[in-house]
Amino acid sequence: MSIDSPFSLDERLDRLLGKRPAAPLAKLGLETTGDLLRHYPRRYADPGTMTEISILVVGEHVTVVAEVVSATVREMRSRGGAMLQAVVSDGTDRLSLTFFAKHKGALRTHEARLKPGRTGLFTGVVSEYRNERQLTHPDYLLHGVDVDSAEAGLVEASLLTPIYPASAAMPTWKLHQTVRTVLDPLTPADIPDPIPAEVLERRGLESLHQAFRDIHVPAEEHEWRRGQKRLRYEEAFVLQTALALRRSEAAALEATARPLTSDGPSLLSDFDASLPFTLTDGQREVGAEIAAELAAPHPMQRLLQGEVGSGKTVVALRAMLQVVDAGGQAALLAPTEVLAAQHARTLSGLLGDLAAGGMLGGASHGTRVALVTGSQPAAVKKKNLLDAASGAAGIVVGTHALLSAGVQFAELGLVVVDEQHRFGVEQRDMLRAKARTVPHLLVMTATPIPRTVAMTVFGDLETSTLREIPAGRSGITTHVVPAQKPAWIARTWAKVREEIDAGRQAYVVCPRITGDTDEADGADEPGSDDGTLGLDVPAGASGAGASAAPPTSNRRPLRAVLEVAEELADLEVLRGVRIGILHGQMPPAEKEAAMAAFTAGDVDLLVSTTVIEVGVDVPRATAMVVLDADRFGLSQLHQLRGRVGRGADAGLCFLVSEMAEAAPASTRLKTLASTTDGFELAAADLEMRSEGDVLGAAQSGRSTSLQLLRVVRDTAVIEQAREDAAALVAADPTLAGHPLLLAEITERVTGERAEYLDRS
Ligand code: ADP
Ligand code: MG
Repeated sequence: MSIDSPFSLDERLDRLLGKRPAAPLAKLGLETTGDLLRHYPRRYADPGTMTEISILVVGEHVTVVAEVVSATVREMRSRGGAMLQAVVSDGTDRLSLTFFAKHKGALRTHEARLKPGRTGLFTGVVSEYRNERQLTHPDYLLHGVDVDSAEAGLVEASLLTPIYPASAAMPTWKLHQTVRTVLDPLTPADIPDPIPAEVLERRGLESLHQAFRDIHVPAEEHEWRRGQKRLRYEEAFVLQTALALRRSEAAALEATARPLTSDGPSLLSDFDASLPFTLTDGQREVGAEIAAELAAPHPMQRLLQGEVGSGKTVVALRAMLQVVDAGGQAALLAPTEVLAAQHARTLSGLLGDLAAGGMLGGASHGTRVALVTGSQPAAVKKKNLLDAASGAAGIVVGTHALLSAGVQFAELGLVVVDEQHRFGVEQRDMLRAKARTVPHLLVMTATPIPRTVAMTVFGDLETSTLREIPAGRSGITTHVVPAQKPAWIARTWAKVREEIDAGRQAYVVCPRITGDTDEADGADEPGSDDGTLGLDVPAGASGAGASAAPPTSNRRPLRAVLEVAEELADLEVLRGVRIGILHGQMPPAEKEAAMAAFTAGDVDLLVSTTVIEVGVDVPRATAMVVLDADRFGLSQLHQLRGRVGRGADAGLCFLVSEMAEAAPASTRLKTLASTTDGFELAAADLEMRSEGDVLGAAQSGRSTSLQLLRVVRDTAVIEQAREDAAALVAADPTLAGHPLLLAEITERVTGERAEYLDRS
């Protein structure tokens, strides 16, 4: 094994193959031999069993294995020019191949090659002409013709044909040939293995060299499967080693220990004594875990997950009080100003007298909760900034504005982040820079994250979960309402009216703000339009979020806040109902006023975008109507409906959609209606989407990112890799003895993915 092999995987393809042949490869993002070898086939065509033409879909770029039935050249009288039409068959169905040219002569080469009876691979985009599916100007490779000798042709024809993600300029067989050109001369010694030999042995995996051979030049199915297994493990292992390094680095950092106050007055014990309820077992257990970590001289790095209403805020507040008792300050970061303001109110409310430190009537050892947001009046903000800087405020709540240079803390000891999404290590670092020692970190999320996703995406955090919902909740009933059925719609609004008449409140959620924009809400406030860690892309809208129009949309425009608010105001059944609106494009002060009016009960029905999604807590709100519900992802809908049924009264959620019964979106809505278990839903949601959506757009299109690993499916692989990585890092904390692995991490993780992981 040698790193300075003459056949380094960093060899540039344009040097190796020449500029022109390398150009179409570069377009596919393949610039080095390593890139090329890690460009894995998407699937394998067995020349013995032909790919089914009958299931080809119009618009897809496909490759089929088929036999030529006929090929005829003719002149086109109407348009001028000439045309070659060939028909190929795979035994199940036929497909036309069409080539156009100015003159017949230009088509003769094709005609001569496409002899009836010859078999080959045909690739192109499927289109439809006069009810027949066809490939126009397909690329093709004929078995026994486009290979050097008849003998080679036979060998070739007996091999599985790898089908690569390809382009018109670089069709799959050209890619395969190029891979062979690069791979064939390489020996095991030329391809150093980043995975330590003992790990390979323990897991029964083959070498990287063998894996490349198996995946690119398999003779039989079990070979490429074996190759994939090794490469899949490698993806997990490299990522897990990166995360293990990060955990170990963090654990080695110094933090100020903030142990529980054992005697004398303490905010925490006073708070516990004043709680009007008893903590759930989960809250107690997680609380103890956190308390112990805060007492240690290394920074806590913990992710606290729990459904909306599971009582995370109380757990976080108890942690903050422990830190304040120990002479530190806590910062709570929320994704939006609305939520920051609400958190500040909630915390002050929960603390009561304890939050009136230094004020007349306040508890003698009390502290203060300071809210710092960008839109505060200058004088208010200045006072709060002073409280933060002097330490008078033990708890400082805000949005990203807390990260700005103007905010100082006297003794920052704990950072609590509400909703991890779009708040990353970079931001954490900025906050840390405001503290003497590294502050402890508690990240809270209401999006249930399946275990393996947590281990992959949040692998540098330890995870705690609140599974129980505190007693006294009445739960929520969810109904799917077909938008095409006026009687159902009328019944929905009548139900809403009943709730309002009973002194309760309702939300109406729309995907858009106005009828004449395509904008989904939330663009102006990071994190306001989805509380779902990027896990929540509506199925079919590949990565574009809820605003993406379906590709073939002849639906009416999506329901919009301003429009719907007007319509509802005119609705007989809602006469006299006080209607408010809330969306991300309102000025912050208006947003806050709208939320405050709803919280105070001055507004009965709030029409809004998904800005209300995360953490909003109005116990009297019992009904929610989601319009165009199919435009939202499962987790997001689950988050949304978590807004209602938070008090003693049962919640009602109506998912209005005009999706046909059989559509996948309709299935999703029904899944949602059938369970309130967030973990079950998160798993279902993940299964319905692609990995790229799960791990974010940052890593898609990059040949070195996760290609074979599926976070939801490959649980065992990820767990094994995590175990192996942890052991390796424990034995070699700097990876000094594993330079190749370190290089892989730098190349594959630290470069791009880590950035994503941090931002997630
Ligand atoms: P989360 O932040 O997880 O959404 P919260 O901490 O906001 O949940 O709790 C939701 C509501 O439940 C709040 O009104 C809170 O005061 C209340 N609550 C929290 N813990 C308990 C408990 N153990 N018993 C009863 N009510 C609780
Ligand atoms: Mg909360």
